[in-house]
Amino acid sequence: MSKRQLSQVIDLNKCIGCHTCTISCKKLWTDRNGREYMYWNNVETKPGKGYPKDWEKRGGGFKKGVLQAGDEVAPLEDYGLPWEYDNMKASLMEGTGEQVLPHHEGKKVWPTWGPNWDEDQGEGMFPNSYYFYLPRICNHCSKPACLAACTRKAIYKREEDGIVLVDQKRCRGYRYCVRACPYKKTYFNSTTNTSEKCIFCYPRIEKGEVQGCAKMCTGRIRHVSWMDDKDGPAYKLVKKWKVALPLHPEFETEPNVFYIPPINTTPPPLDSDGKLMEGKDRIPLSYLESLFGPKVKGALDVLSGEMEKRKKGQPSELTEILIGYTNKDRFKL
Ligand code: SF4
Ligand code: SF4
Repeated sequence: MSKRQLSQVIDLNKCIGCHTCTISCKKLWTDRNGREYMYWNNVETKPGKGYPKDWEKRGGGFKKGVLQAGDEVAPLEDYGLPWEYDNMKASLMEGTGEQVLPHHEGKKVWPTWGPNWDEDQGEGMFPNSYYFYLPRICNHCSKPACLAACTRKAIYKREEDGIVLVDQKRCRGYRYCVRACPYKKTYFNSTTNTSEKCIFCYPRIEKGEVQGCAKMCTGRIRHVSWMDDKDGPAYKLVKKWKVALPLHPEFETEPNVFYIPPINTTPPPLDSDGKLMEGKDRIPLSYLESLFGPKVKGALDVLSGEMEKRKKGQPSELTEILIGYTNKDRFKL
């Protein structure tokens, strides 16, 4: 356990799937030197297979406290080969009509997967189909399976802020951490022969700045604060109002990134006459429970209740926090 824990809360009701967070992370940390295929922050569509493909079925985490090794590391194709555009040949640039195909290691490749490959597909039949966006980063878990699996003791959790890091000098590239992280948020770098992962932008945090993904978020859906700060949005949303939940709590790693689940009655589904079935679930509750555990219903009830209060002109601390008018409201370091 660390002395303090920095946390992020992500409101899925406000994510517009613009990927600005992903690009800000990529430009900051992963656009070269063997990291090209990595997306420390990715935004995937749910329901969907995600990034890497079928990550939720690849094992890892703990079961009744026992570390699970996890499946073999996914092949690069299941993450998506890194794209190297030849912009000078692109039809948009020169009007040559040549189809723009990504290059990989000097050869043109036809991609078969990538981050958010199944964007906006979701599930269900029109007009009652549904999907939502799920931004994902390392959860900087309180019980990190990556750390537990590392035989080199190269992974550590910082005392001062709970950020989980890989010591690049100690790592020998065994990849036990890549297999054991049930969220598949450690990545192998074949150029350096080490594992790498989201660093929660610790150099920014040390200067009093929140993570790039949070700062750049156009939807203003991310809240950042210390979990022991009772005035901070993370404490209020997770502990006080209990509307922010960890992703896949059954993995037993105790994440420190939390999600406000999507309100599944907005918009309500339509009946066979095309009439709105007010109060009915669009996203099956069972699906949301499969992602965020059994506390989803309670969280959704609190959210709906507070929204109703607000519609009637009554004050609601919860909706004020979730609106997050300014950076100061959403970030408290
Ligand atoms: S999400 Fe994965 S990589 Fe991040 S701390 Fe948890 S177990 Fe480790
Ligand atoms: S920048 Fe914000 S709104 Fe856009 S995809 Fe990322 S989390 Fe969602």
